[in-house]
Amino acid sequence: MNSDYGLSIWGNSNFVIEAGKVCLNTDFRPPIIDIVKEIRDDGIRGPILLRFPHLIKKQIVEIYKNFERAKKEFDYSGNFNAVYPLKVNQYPGFVKNLVQIGKPFGYGLEAGSKAELLLAMAYNNFGAPITVNGFKDKELINIGFIASEMGHDITLTIEGLTELECIIETAKERFDAKPNIGLRIRLHSSGSGIWAKSGGINSKFGLTATELIEAINLLKEANLLDQFTMIHFHIGSQINEIHPLKKALTEAGHIYAELRKMGANNLKAINLGGGLAVEYSQVKENTVRNYTLREYANDVVFLLKTIAESKNVAEPDIFIESGRYVAANHAVLVAPVLELFSQEYAEEKLVLGKENPPLITELYDLYKSIKPTNALEYLHDAVAHMDSVLTLFDLGYVNLIDRSNGEILVHLIMKKAVAMLGNKQNYTDLLKIQDEVQERYLVNFSLFQSLPDFWGLKQHFPIMPLEKLDERPTRSASLWDITCDSDGEIGFHPKKNPLFLHDVDVEKEEYFLGFFLVGAYQEVLGMSHNLFTHPTEATVTLKDDGGFDISDVLESQSVIDILEDMDYDVHEIQNTLNERVEKSTILDDKQKKHILGELYLFLNDNGYLKSE
Ligand SMILES: *Cc1c(COP(=O)(O)O)cnc(C)c1O
Repeated sequence: MNSDYGLSIWGNSNFVIEAGKVCLNTDFRPPIIDIVKEIRDDGIRGPILLRFPHLIKKQIVEIYKNFERAKKEFDYSGNFNAVYPLKVNQYPGFVKNLVQIGKPFGYGLEAGSKAELLLAMAYNNFGAPITVNGFKDKELINIGFIASEMGHDITLTIEGLTELECIIETAKERFDAKPNIGLRIRLHSSGSGIWAKSGGINSKFGLTATELIEAINLLKEANLLDQFTMIHFHIGSQINEIHPLKKALTEAGHIYAELRKMGANNLKAINLGGGLAVEYSQVKENTVRNYTLREYANDVVFLLKTIAESKNVAEPDIFIESGRYVAANHAVLVAPVLELFSQEYAEEKLVLGKENPPLITELYDLYKSIKPTNALEYLHDAVAHMDSVLTLFDLGYVNLIDRSNGEILVHLIMKKAVAMLGNKQNYTDLLKIQDEVQERYLVNFSLFQSLPDFWGLKQHFPIMPLEKLDERPTRSASLWDITCDSDGEIGFHPKKNPLFLHDVDVEKEEYFLGFFLVGAYQEVLGMSHNLFTHPTEATVTLKDDGGFDISDVLESQSVIDILEDMDYDVHEIQNTLNERVEKSTILDDKQKKHILGELYLFLNDNGYLKSE
């Protein structure tokens, strides 16, 4: 990995390295570590999720800017609209900022469930569009009607004919205002990448050509054809290449023109769904996205213009629903390293006797005489010797103290060798050795809670230390979270995840890791495995004079709150714990009082580790 941890690949110019620290790339460049320290000054420990509203704004501005520019460039007459799909991140710390930032653009919201729709109805800026996708029952459709009765500009996108029948029925029962109706089309072209299950002929969603014609007839009969304003498709998340989108859009463009010819006179919009990709890779060889937003906007506008011209229909309004692209950047998870597993292998811990087994003596000699010219050879010898020490131990020829001396010496040799080899060694060779002699870093966070897509889909997220970036990181690192699940590991991998970290003594200095691009999907998909909950979060806004403001600090949920969320009777838990202390025959009254106080504190604090 390059010395900037691939920042130039995934960083989107949001961060810079200055004086060895990751800083926000703004006029005054505050180091992230300073923000973290300020939050920790208030006694907060454990992982912290930082939200940066200026990065939400940046993405929204980029989207509107690029489409407006493309429209101008191709002299396109349709309007451009965007909505934010709530499923990507429904947390108030994100949504409330997004809605406020989006106001001047008329940025709307997309909902995929009753809960999300009600949320959208409460927070969406009036006048900005709301779109509703996903499966609907009569109740959800009713809520959609209420939204339009409230004055919202809402479009209910139909996933199947039964939903349409339900809308027609509901329209007869309710008041004058009606939602717009969208039809989700089932394309024969589909997306690409690990999330590409939403497009294609076998996709979960959408109407076939035959069903579309049926839908138009049903709408005509019910006198609701004027409400039909939009066709919609979504070929999946994280679209790596532009080609499948262009294919889908061509297909959609023709369907649009055909439906207009069939008398759908109010059909005026094509909704391309989401899918704009985010580059998560830290290594050039592993990059996935092969287009820019500029290219995406140009292709969409140009294609739709061409189709409209060739079929002689009005240029459609364009809607997009990209969520990942808007949300991923805004959040950075910061977690402290609690321990380096080989830290205990210090020279002081050696207990060498007057007489030692020859292998141990040899290891000691290797350790003392290792130098850059022989480091690689000595390292190989040391690993082989350790193997022999373990075999001899199993056979009863060396004792536990010898074995411990062997472990310590091998680790000391590894550390020395790796530091000496540095850049002198051929990179591939070095990687191979590093792969064998990884250091395990215990990090105060839960991977299941904070990076569920790594657990579920092996999605990589950029990781880097927040400080010491002017020092060469020497240790190949595998990261261990604090759950007791062996899946809670981000392993070192020479190709996929060649993460090198610093050889720090965490008893003497703090060491924090940043996990970037975690603002999309991770929060709400996060699981409370081992009952670790959402990390403490804070919103960081930049001030004109160069400082920053930390607001909306929301501490990680307390143990008692988690248990309450799981529908435990928390009074029962508290009372039972207290009773069991009270009834104890081995404690006196003073001790009981002390312990009751302690229990109270532990229950009302979060469960992340404090041993930092
Ligand atoms: C999930 C979803 C989106 C958002 O997709 P991103 O990949 O986050 O841009 C947009 N539209 C629909 C219909 C969706 O299901």
